[in-house]
Amino acid sequence: MKRKYILLAALVVLTLVGTLACQKSTGSNNNGQKSIVVTYPVLGSVVKELVGDKATVNVSVPNGLDPHEWAPSAKDIEAINKADLVVQNGLGLEGGLEKTLKAARDRGVLFFTASDHITVCRVGSGEGIPSGNPDQVIGAEDPHLWTDPVAMKSIVSALASQLKLGLGIDVDTQSQDLQVRLENLNKEISDQVTHLPLDNRNLVTGHESMGYFAQRYGFKLVGAIIPGISTQAEVSAADLAALKKLIENNHVKAIFAELGTSTAVAKAIGNETGAKVVELPTHSLPKDGSYFSFERNLAKIIIDALQ
Ligand SMILES: [Zn+2]
Repeated sequence: MKRKYILLAALVVLTLVGTLACQKSTGSNNNGQKSIVVTYPVLGSVVKELVGDKATVNVSVPNGLDPHEWAPSAKDIEAINKADLVVQNGLGLEGGLEKTLKAARDRGVLFFTASDHITVCRVGSGEGIPSGNPDQVIGAEDPHLWTDPVAMKSIVSALASQLKLGLGIDVDTQSQDLQVRLENLNKEISDQVTHLPLDNRNLVTGHESMGYFAQRYGFKLVGAIIPGISTQAEVSAADLAALKKLIENNHVKAIFAELGTSTAVAKAIGNETGAKVVELPTHSLPKDGSYFSFERNLAKIIIDALQ
C-alpha cells in the first residue's frame, strides 16, 4: 500500500516537472510577452527604457560584475537559449559568455549586436602604451561603445527597427523620445567639458575603456594600468614603468581605477607620480539603474578630478 502511494507521488512529480518544462520551452512569458535578454547592465538599462512594458527584458551579467570575464550558470544559458531576442555588445566584450552566445545563435536564436550599428573605435597609433597584448595592437576594435551617448542613439534606432521587423513590437515613439534625450545628454556633457582646460584632458584608466568617450569629448588617451581593451590582459613591469613616464610627461592629474583594476597598483603609481587615484564606474550602473545617471556620473567624476 505504502509503496503504491510513493509510486503515485513520484508519477505526479514527474508529470508536474514535464508540464513545467513544456511551459518554459518558449521565450514568451506567461503574459504572452516576448522575452529579451541583454548581456550586460549598462546596455540593458537603455533597452529597458526603449521597450518599456512591451516585452520582458532580463540582463545576464549582474550589475557590478565584470562583463569581460563573467561566465553564465546553467540557468543563465537556458534564459539565453529561450529568448525571443538576445541583445549583445559584440567586439569581444562578453568574453565569458562568447561560447554560450555562439551556441544560441547556432540554435537559431534571434540576435541584435549593438556594435554592428555604430562607427567602431580602434586603438590608434601613439595611443596608450605599446605592449605585446593582442588587444592593444593598433587597429584593435574597442568594445566600450556605451561611454558615447551618440553611439547609443544609433543603437536605439537600429534596435527599434529590429524589434518591429523581428518581433512585431512597435517602439517608434519611445525610440524618438530616447534619441532626443541621448542627444541632449551629449550636448550637456560637451558643454561641461568646455570648462575643462585643454591641457588637463588626459585620461589614464584601469584598462583601455574610455576610447569612445575620449573621441566624442576630445580627451587624450594617455595610457592604462592594464594596457588592453579587456580587463583580462597581462601587465608587465615594463608596461607600468612606461605608464609612469607617460603620466609624468603629460602632467596627468588623476588615475581612474575601474572594475578589475588592482587598487594596490593604482595607489603605487599614484604615489610615485603625484596623480590622485579616483574610482570611475565605467562598467556598472548607479543605484537608480539609469543610463543617463551613469553617463552624467562618468563625466562629472572625470571633469571634477581633472580640474
Ligand atoms: Zn572594459
